[in-house]
Parts: sequence; structure tokens; C-alpha cells
Amino acid sequence: YFTRELTTKAEHYVSMEKEIRRALHQTELEVYYQPVINLAEEDIVGVEALVRWHHPERGLVSPAEFIPIAEESNLILELGEWVLRTACAEVARWNANDLHLAINVSSNQLRGGFDRHTVEDIIEQTQFPSERLVFEITESLLMEEKEEITQTLQEFRDLAIHLSIDDFGTGYSALSYLRRFPVNILKIDRSFVRDMETDPGNAQLVETIIGMANNLNLRVVAEGVESEVQARILREQGCDMVQGFYYGKPMPAKELRKLLSN
Ligand code: C2E
Ligand code: MG
Ligand code: MG
Repeated sequence: YFTRELTTKAEHYVSMEKEIRRALHQTELEVYYQPVINLAEEDIVGVEALVRWHHPERGLVSPAEFIPIAEESNLILELGEWVLRTACAEVARWNANDLHLAINVSSNQLRGGFDRHTVEDIIEQTQFPSERLVFEITESLLMEEKEEITQTLQEFRDLAIHLSIDDFGTGYSALSYLRRFPVNILKIDRSFVRDMETDPGNAQLVETIIGMANNLNLRVVAEGVESEVQARILREQGCDMVQGFYYGKPMPAKELRKLLSN
């Protein structure tokens, strides 16, 4: 039976879905870019594309709010393709030839048919070199071990696309999947980085992840770096790359290009 609360939730859901559809067709969406920094040289080696929604009444709506709703419907497919196409087209125009571009690919997107053909089309249309693309996926997706997903990931790999595990350490801790899937990069979740200064246990954990990644020949990105102290600790621990407000928040393309030309 329906309670009032359930009805309200369902209504919110349906209206959000409608609004996301409108946002897709009326350019209320924008791709922001957050710089990824190489710790040794302190220069920008890549960017992560993070979608933003400029809602006509509500202002900037967080992807944390609308991605899950898009995921529940098939909208995530259209949205994901839009982000990939837009980001590839924009970054290709920057003349920043070594810059890698990280794109978040969610579970339902992969399950729903985001595949080699879609990606090949976009790469061809935008002329973005696939070897500079990184797809960020979560641990939980790999834990499912679905044959189709394994195959799709392998096909991305055949296109020379890199694979990165987002929010590493927050999901399940079965590490065996690291050997079974063509993973290149681990992104240490920002919850570990945040408490590193105050909690020696967390600092130890981060160091352990970095050591493990080195042994497995994986690159490491630490997320959520907000202070110089955190950056220093990570450098001492041998972390390759960092991302966080200390180096740069997610920003519009125009601002990121300014950073690149400095
Ligand atoms: P994520 O991929 O783990 O992205 C990192 C999030 O951390 C971003 O939030 C970013 O703004 C935030 N962040 C970066 N540096 C710092 C820092 O120093 N301190 C703190 N406190 N936060 C920091 P955002 O942009 O709100 O995105 C949230 C999540 O939404 C992303 O998490 C990603 O899972 C998802 N998302 C964003 N854009 C897309 C997209 O185009 N497609 C899909 N499927 N998911 C997306
Ligand atoms: Mg990400
Ligand atoms: Mg993350």
C-alpha cells in the first residue's frame, strides 16, 4: 500500500527524471574539469570530467543528487554519452597533447549498453586519442564478475583506454579482481586522505595501498588533497598523482585552459 511519504518520493523521482531529460536537451548541463597533478613535478598531467547541472530555479545541482536518479532510469546512458562526447571534443581543442582525460563510468551505464561501439563512435567523431582516455569505475562493479562486463572492459582495453578504480578502499576488500581485470590506476578514496594527518592508522593504510600499487605496477592517484601537509606526506610515501581542492577545484573548461597556459 502507498503511504504519503512513498508517494512524495515517487513524485520527486518522476519529476527529477523529467527535469534531467530536459537538462540534457536544453544544455543545462556543463562539464567541469578538475586538474590531476603529478606530485614529483607538480604539473598538470590530466583532468577528471565532472558533470554539473545548472538548474533554472535551483542553481547548481550536485551530481551526487542527480546521477543516482539518472542511474535508475535509462537516462544514465544518454547522460554518459553526452559527457564523454563533450569532454573529448573540448579537451581535443586544448592543444595539450599529453593531458589524459578521466571519465566516470557508472555501473548501470556499463550494464545498460555503454560499449565499444558507442566509445569508438565518439572517439572517431571527436578525434580524441583513446590512449589518453581513462575510465573510472568502482570496485563493486568488478566484484559482480559478470561475463559481459569483463568483456566490455577488455574491449575498452583493446582500444588502449586506461582503467582506474575510483574510491579505492571503500568497497569490498577482495583484491583478487585486480589481477583478473585490466586495471591501470587506483584512486585512493578521499576519506583516507582526509584523516591522514590526525590518524596514523589512516596514513599507514594509504602508504600500504601505495606500496601495493607499486608492486602490482599500478599508478596511484590520491583524491581529496586539501592541504600542503597532506601533499607532503603523500609525496614522501611515493604517491604518483593527486587531485584535490589544494591544487584546484573542478572548474569550467575556460578556467582550466587558463591554468594550463600559466
Ligand atoms: P568522484 O568521481 O569520486 O569525484 C570526486 C568528487 O570529489 C567530486 O565531487 C569532486 O568535486 C570532489 N572533490 C575533489 N577534490 C576534493 C577535495 O579536495 N575535497 C573534497 N571535499 N571534495 C573533493 P562531485 O563533482 O560532486 O562528483 C560526485 C560524484 O558524482 C563523483 O565522484 C562521481 O562518482 C559522480 N559523477 C560526477 N560526474 C559524473 C559523470 O559524468 N558520470 C558519472 N557516471 N558519474 C559522475
Ligand atoms: Mg571519479
Ligand atoms: Mg572518487
